[in-house]
Amino acid sequence: MTVHEGGCHCGNVRLSYETNIPPAETELRACQCSFCRKHNSLAAADPSGRLSIRVKNEDLLSRYGFGLRTAEYLVCRDCGVYVAAVTSNTEEKRAIIVVNALDERAQFTREPLLTVYDAETRDERIARRHARWMPVKWSIEH
Ligand SMILES: [Zn+2]
Repeated sequence: MTVHEGGCHCGNVRLSYETNIPPAETELRACQCSFCRKHNSLAAADPSGRLSIRVKNEDLLSRYGFGLRTAEYLVCRDCGVYVAAVTSNTEEKRAIIVVNALDERAQFTREPLLTVYDAETRDERIARRHARWMPVKWSIEH
């Protein structure tokens, strides 16, 4: 697998996205909810891949929740960068990466799909994320 590195701006949160999908073929999703539009975020996930999240100072990581509160939106409190979202309601955690936060973001060139999930029920949302988001591993570095 190829590992794409990334993270927030100040270095508090580091990401490694492992995938076999080449960047130029990676599906990019531009979620149209008000949070994602405010960040102009492009999200990606490879269900056969993996995301690892390494945090230096957990106190400086915001795990923002809104709407149905079935996921945590990870934003660095120090530099303000939105880096990833992780499911909060299931035992097996799944995540998407915000492509904007990857070092090689310029290689992710597909036209984004504009996605609207407003009509989903809570169960539909959980099932969709389980199918499309990817496994995630956390580590807190002290
Ligand atoms: Zn930061």
